Amino acid sequence: MGLTQHKSVEVANLTVTSKIIAQVRCEGRKVLLETEAKTICIEYGIPVTKFKLAKNEAEAADFAEQIGFPVVLKIVSPDISHKSEAGGVKVDLKNTAEVKSAYGRILDNANKFNSAAKIVGVLVQEMAPQSTEVIVGAIKDPQFGQTLMFGLGGIFVELLKDVTFRVAPITREDAQEMITKVKAYPLLKGYRNAPPADIDAIINILMNTSKLVTDYSEIKELDLNPIMVYEKGTKTVDARIIL
Ligand code: ADP
Ligand code: MG
Repeated sequence: MGLTQHKSVEVANLTVTSKIIAQVRCEGRKVLLETEAKTICIEYGIPVTKFKLAKNEAEAADFAEQIGFPVVLKIVSPDISHKSEAGGVKVDLKNTAEVKSAYGRILDNANKFNSAAKIVGVLVQEMAPQSTEVIVGAIKDPQFGQTLMFGLGGIFVELLKDVTFRVAPITREDAQEMITKVKAYPLLKGYRNAPPADIDAIINILMNTSKLVTDYSEIKELDLNPIMVYEKGTKTVDARIIL
């Protein structure tokens, strides 16, 4: 009795991720921009396509040259969350002229889609070569809490619902099982002429995603879709995080 309560003082040691989440909340948003979601991915060791946010056409052309052709341009707007629906994604741009023309078309399309949309800029990113596509997701289940999902891209998830789930946090063995237990698993091992996919790299993404959603219980939904998987390594092409 009478003891002074010492409240532990939180040292200002904010991570990149907590700063982004604080900023998003401060702006009254729930859906993170692709730039924000991918910056969080980088902090958590999830490989993403190289990207730079351009504010004008000349900058977009400069960034494209720095990144290397071909590039992809995408609209960045808190009011446009499904970018291709709004004509906001242009892929396989092979030179400066194509980048400049795509920049203008993306802004026109965004304006037609929603003339009130706030435009943050246009994201210039490396074009990930085609490969086997997988999806890693997380949802916050009201009963089980943070739950991870894995599946192969395209029809496997959307049509065949060929997916596995595990409640976070997961172990390496859980991650391995999530991958081997989907019916389409043989496709990852190298089917016909396709080379085998880097399973260890997918395991790492699942583990790192588990850590991310465990660290930040305010994340309600996460979607890395698609992730290109190569013989060596992976590249996340689109990332969505919702608070
Ligand atoms: P959204 O889902 O908001 O419409 P995405 O970023 O997923 O926008 O882009 C739509 C599609 O364009 C992707 O599913 C993918 O097929 C292709 N794409 C987008 N970015 C890239 C990239 N960097 N490299 C290769 N393909 C891409
Ligand atoms: Mg997408």
